[in-house]
Amino acid sequence: MGWGHEPHEGWADEKLPDGRWLGPTRRGDDPDAVAYRAVCSCGWRSEREHEVPPRPADVPRGERGVPYGPAYDAWIAALEAADGACWEDWNAEHFEPLLGYEPHTQLILGRSDGGARHFLDGRPVRAGSALELLLADGTWLRVRYEWSWQPDRAPTAYAALGLPKPAEGLVDPSLVSFELPARAVLRWPQERP
Ligand SMILES: [Zn+2]
Repeated sequence: MGWGHEPHEGWADEKLPDGRWLGPTRRGDDPDAVAYRAVCSCGWRSEREHEVPPRPADVPRGERGVPYGPAYDAWIAALEAADGACWEDWNAEHFEPLLGYEPHTQLILGRSDGGARHFLDGRPVRAGSALELLLADGTWLRVRYEWSWQPDRAPTAYAALGLPKPAEGLVDPSLVSFELPARAVLRWPQERP
């Protein structure tokens, strides 16, 4: 039902007409909610409540007693919208900050005299710039940055493959290329001994 997983599983808690919050379990005879708010299994609670409209009265029912019709559909859509708003709260207020992404390690799309440009740690990244990309094992991969200059397109990273010692200087290393995901963690090349 929720978003993410333990220890940070979020969900939309439901406020009952008497002001109590439903918590993780809804029983069959619990009344409809009057508002939702985002909560997390770790105990975090959003301050923001999202009101939901009352269940429409006298909606038609189909063969198996399933309600239908525009009023019912609109109510369901409103519940889904409130649920989506709770996801946004949980994600923006609680989950994202937990992840520890730091703006100075991300490519930030900005503008300079030439037009759109990525910046890393405040410095403009130019076509052909060498950057270091954090890998899952904690090592950094040296890549070359290239970009099509189209703001809706991801930049491309090129990494040079290794060669046998005798081949160095005689042949160009093969390149592998891949799109840099928006969440890639990057840094400017460090001094090498
Ligand atoms: Zn949490």
